[in-house]
Amino acid sequence: MSNECHHEVIIIGGGLAGLSCAVQLANSGVHSLILEATDRVGGRVRSDVINGFTLDVGFQVLLTAYPSCQKLLDYSALRLRYFDPGALIRQSGTFTELADPWRNPGKAWATATNPVGSIADKLRIWRLRSKTCRGSLAELYERPHKTTEQYLRDFGFSERMLDQFFRPFIGGVFLDESLSVSSRMLEFVFRMFSMGGIAVPADGMAAIPRQLAERLPRGSVNLQTSVVQIEGNRVVLADGSSLTAKHIVVATESNAAARLLELPEIQTSWNETTTLYYSSPQCDEKHKSLILRGDESGPIQTATIISNVAEEYAPPKSSLISVSLNSNDATSSDENALLTKQQLSKWFGDQVNRWELLQTYQIPYGLPDMDIDPVIRSPVVEERENTYLCGDHCETPSIEGAMDSGMRAAASILKR
Ligand SMILES: Cc1cc2nc3c(=O)[nH]c(=O)nc-3n(C[C@H](O)[C@H](O)[C@H](O)COP(=O)(O)OP(=O)(O)OC[C@H]3O[C@@H](n4cnc5c(N)ncnc54)[C@H](O)[C@@H]3O)c2cc1C
Repeated sequence: MSNECHHEVIIIGGGLAGLSCAVQLANSGVHSLILEATDRVGGRVRSDVINGFTLDVGFQVLLTAYPSCQKLLDYSALRLRYFDPGALIRQSGTFTELADPWRNPGKAWATATNPVGSIADKLRIWRLRSKTCRGSLAELYERPHKTTEQYLRDFGFSERMLDQFFRPFIGGVFLDESLSVSSRMLEFVFRMFSMGGIAVPADGMAAIPRQLAERLPRGSVNLQTSVVQIEGNRVVLADGSSLTAKHIVVATESNAAARLLELPEIQTSWNETTTLYYSSPQCDEKHKSLILRGDESGPIQTATIISNVAEEYAPPKSSLISVSLNSNDATSSDENALLTKQQLSKWFGDQVNRWELLQTYQIPYGLPDMDIDPVIRSPVVEERENTYLCGDHCETPSIEGAMDSGMRAAASILKR
């Protein structure tokens, strides 16, 4: 069955890449239709509300320095809630603060002399920060690169600093503690952490795609509409019907794009993650920090009392704790939950007996495991006329990578 409806632009996938492309086109007066397979926009940026608690599907944060977010998002309407800069590191059975001396000069000496790495390591962190903030992002992506592990070793960081800070930190960001990710990505992330705040919207991370979708004219998004094939300027839907368009944008995750475009070279493997949420009658901890596992063994990679950062995430007189696990841990989910609770008890004491497990999210498709040789992929698909590609796999596996690639796909269409 063929549907005669012809569109200017069809965008396959309503994640941040597809939405950013649509918003950028709409800003230039070009109408597009998003076809999204699931029942909501946002793709991997989702939030659920359970018993009055807002649970992001996998712990995620917005780095406010992301350039495309600064261009496309209205931060004040998102009512951003900020983490304390720096991090708390679990070290020798206690928490040690690794503060950001640029934003918190009063803590510079305490941070320099704390047991997380040597004083020389702290100086190297400050040197790394200066290096990553120099020049433009485009220049950063052009720099010679190697694995993050090699880069940090060549920078002179001690093994202790690699294990206690960089592995849980980069593991939390790229869902891979092996530090095999390209040093360009490390530089990109360090730059973003250094140049802006770490935040979540008061209504959960899903407020970000929602804000983008609300900017589009009514009828711009067809939910529960899965595309199974692209034939020239025609897209075939799962129900057998088809739509045609002058321009087709494939804004799905890497492997769906590889299938639709018959481009096996863009296929990726995936880094996975697990996030557990606990509810508590008001937690005794008052900090708004990201906690890294430091030198401790156990399933936990990072944790946050997320309702201290955004009180709207929990109903009145209660707290919400978000815990992300080391994805390499192969134990069963029941065993993980038990070990996690034991480790939390070591960290936070008897109050943990009152914490209840609200939800566990096991996310097998977290981030595309990007090649050590990442390239900023052109949005124009060669050998297919008027077909474009975007998504986090085209740049960095991040909110910024997804949104910027969507904006670049829109720019290519507008240029034509
Ligand atoms: C647990 C987790 C934590 C993260 N933490 C952070 C973080 O802290 N900071 C950060 O910057 N980034 C983080 N990220 C990464 C960031 O969320 C992603 O890089 C970004 O959302 C990817 O957006 P996208 O539009 O490229 O892809 P997706 O969000 O995957 O969107 C693709 C869309 O295409 C749809 N689709 C697929 N196939 C079809 C089809 N055949 N027909 C129609 N629709 C289709 C899908 O349903 C989906 O909605 C995290 C990701 C996860 C999962």
